[in-house]
Amino acid sequence: MAQFLAWPEQLSRTKLPDGRCKRLKMKIDILTIFPDFFRGPLDYGIIRRAREAGLATIEVHDLRAFARDRHRTVDDRPFGGGEGMVMKPEPIFECIETLNIAGREERVAGRAKQSVALLSAQGKRFDQGIASKIAALDRIVLICGRYEGVDERVGEYLADRELSIGDYVLSGGELGAAVIVDAITRLIPGAVGNEASTRQESFTAPARPQAGNSNGPSSTCASGGLLDYPHYTRPADFRGMPVPEVLVSGHHEEIRRWRHRTALEKTLRNRPDLLERAVLSDEDKELLAQITGQG
Ligand code: SAH
Repeated sequence: MAQFLAWPEQLSRTKLPDGRCKRLKMKIDILTIFPDFFRGPLDYGIIRRAREAGLATIEVHDLRAFARDRHRTVDDRPFGGGEGMVMKPEPIFECIETLNIAGREERVAGRAKQSVALLSAQGKRFDQGIASKIAALDRIVLICGRYEGVDERVGEYLADRELSIGDYVLSGGELGAAVIVDAITRLIPGAVGNEASTRQESFTAPARPQAGNSNGPSSTCASGGLLDYPHYTRPADFRGMPVPEVLVSGHHEEIRRWRHRTALEKTLRNRPDLLERAVLSDEDKELLAQITGQG
């Protein structure tokens, strides 16, 4: 497809010590009792293109295929009593055993660039930092729970991490897995046409906006771990709502400063917690003082 031929091929290659080029690509396996769930989410936009370009290979495995009984049972009652059902460990262990994944110890020690993650509301909260670490791996396996959750031995002995996509309880790990696949796939070099754009987005650390950079506005507005700045496109005046004048001024330095300031404003308004954790540059401090009226 012409669309793929136009892709910046060099971005998806990395130089090996012997000078040969290795194509970076990622293998993603999803374990679920609802494989059809993924028909939609993985078939559009960047994920679809990354798959078609061979940057990401995604395989969805039906856990019911690993159930032993004729009812293909994947859940059972909880030991100790209580509400609901729990996903049995056997189908999950057996499915992973067919995938030729490195042992847990090797993964934990970082000797294998692979990870097996259990989706769980009790997991570590997934964020852009975790996304970029996972995107640097060769392989990620995502285990989707259902019911009251998954037998704890899966998290303890099989998976090397537990991931939550936020502080709320979903009815299954599938939506979470789709979120994670999306966030990591767009970070695989070459997956997004303009790689610089993934470096300038919300939450992306550690690059800080540089004052006085003369390369033009597009390369000077990295979010530095804060939120992205507001974006506008044509028409310049839509139903009496004009775009900020500075953006059509052509003054790169003023545009950069405006973007930096509005990114800070938005972060202060919507996510002050990010500001508390951020290492602020002198320019950040100066702009924040202006925004809060203390400058
Ligand atoms: N009893 C559990 C919730 C189980 S929900 C608890 O209170 O923590 C069933 C499954 O949905 C989980 O096994 C997990 O795979 C998935 N899930 C629910 N909330 C999630 C979240 N915030 N992030 C990722 N996965 C989640």
